[in-house]
Amino acid sequence: MGETVVDLLCIGAGGAAYPAAFRLARVGHRVLMVDPKGVMSGNCLYEGCVPSKAVREMASLAGALGRFGTQLGLAERLAPDYTAIVQHKDRVQERRYAQHAQELAAQPGIELRKGVARILDPHTVQIDDERGSEKIQCHHILIASGSDVFVPPIPGAEHCLTSHDLYKPDPVLRNLPKRLIVVGGGYIGLETASFFAELGSQVTLLQKGGQILNGMDPGMVALLQPLLPAALRILTDVDVQRIEAQGPLRRVVWQRSGQEESAEAEAVLLAVGRSPVIPEGCEGIGIEFDRHGIRVGPSLQTRYPHIYAAGDVNGRVPLFHAAVRQSLVAAHNILGGNQPLDYADFYNVPTTIFTLPAAAYIGVTPAKAEGRELLVGRYDFAEDSRAQILERLEGEIRLFFEPSSLRLLGAGSSASMPVALLGRWERR
Ligand code: ADP
Repeated sequence: MGETVVDLLCIGAGGAAYPAAFRLARVGHRVLMVDPKGVMSGNCLYEGCVPSKAVREMASLAGALGRFGTQLGLAERLAPDYTAIVQHKDRVQERRYAQHAQELAAQPGIELRKGVARILDPHTVQIDDERGSEKIQCHHILIASGSDVFVPPIPGAEHCLTSHDLYKPDPVLRNLPKRLIVVGGGYIGLETASFFAELGSQVTLLQKGGQILNGMDPGMVALLQPLLPAALRILTDVDVQRIEAQGPLRRVVWQRSGQEESAEAEAVLLAVGRSPVIPEGCEGIGIEFDRHGIRVGPSLQTRYPHIYAAGDVNGRVPLFHAAVRQSLVAAHNILGGNQPLDYADFYNVPTTIFTLPAAAYIGVTPAKAEGRELLVGRYDFAEDSRAQILERLEGEIRLFFEPSSLRLLGAGSSASMPVALLGRWERR
């Protein structure tokens, strides 16, 4: 049997892998994607963006039904059935997996192999699967192995659920917990906390530092926080000590202002971050990485011009749409003979947090202005007819302009309502 040779081998088949795979296959390159899941779309569809948004939309509808009981003439408050919501989420995932399988089958030149890839030398990757091992010769390698839930060494962490347990197909959590404790105030923890609060759980979120959504635009966070559901209690400057299991219940014990405090719940979600998944063999060939990910510049090349690292594995912008753009940048640079022709912008990336309600920002905001004066335009949702119809008057849009040219530099919104920007614009 001859040795398999490919133009591109993608380690992983998520959002950082398949855009490059399709782009190159369309121009006649031979592409092999390897992923232990054996399906295309990575963690976004398996346990991330898509299933969490399926739960979010149902929670949002349930919340609206609850708020609009009188307007709809409902005699009693309807309680959502979380088990049915999980079934809906599972069906969405199933449907999208079938769609992606069709897309793959329709594209000549790409093969997806279920297995784990490891790098043997700069042009050889070994695939280990249930049938054994195979060595592949690769003209180019795209490391797109993503990230995984980080589980900190807190005693009793094994008694907690993670986003994997909530959102994967056929998930562990199938009933709405009466009380939920969320450890971690990053976007995954806060989004999930807001969905469950909207669905009727009493949610307590424990954040280590003084601010939730660390690393996100502080102006956006300040606008968002007061709009979060009332059933969501946020405690900051909390140092979680341990989690104890008491039959079906969990007790979380923490220190705050030198005092020991604790709370009990039916479920605890541990959401303190994600770590890059560095494929075996990277270290062996001297690819540089740290705890944030594989080191790459805007061309996405590692120290080897023909080995690229895109998406969560490089830790630059851990968002799905950024992974897709980075994947295409890698593809363009491969097509350019590994000369950097295209560059990823790690700074001007639209960022949304899909809490209920959502918030978003892009570009230069006051936090990133570095002393530059910005002209601020504000639009309050309270003035907007759609917001009035939906009785969601809270929130606003802010646009940031360069004062001399009125060039739009950035924007932020504390609730993602599609509104026409017809309000009064004032200089602030
Ligand atoms: P991204 O959005 O950056 O593409 P994801 O986490 O969505 O990231 O996808 C990464 C995929 O890479 C996951 O499906 C994971 O199973 C896969 N993966 C991780 N390590 C390996 C490996 N060594 N070999 C093959 N696939 C891998």
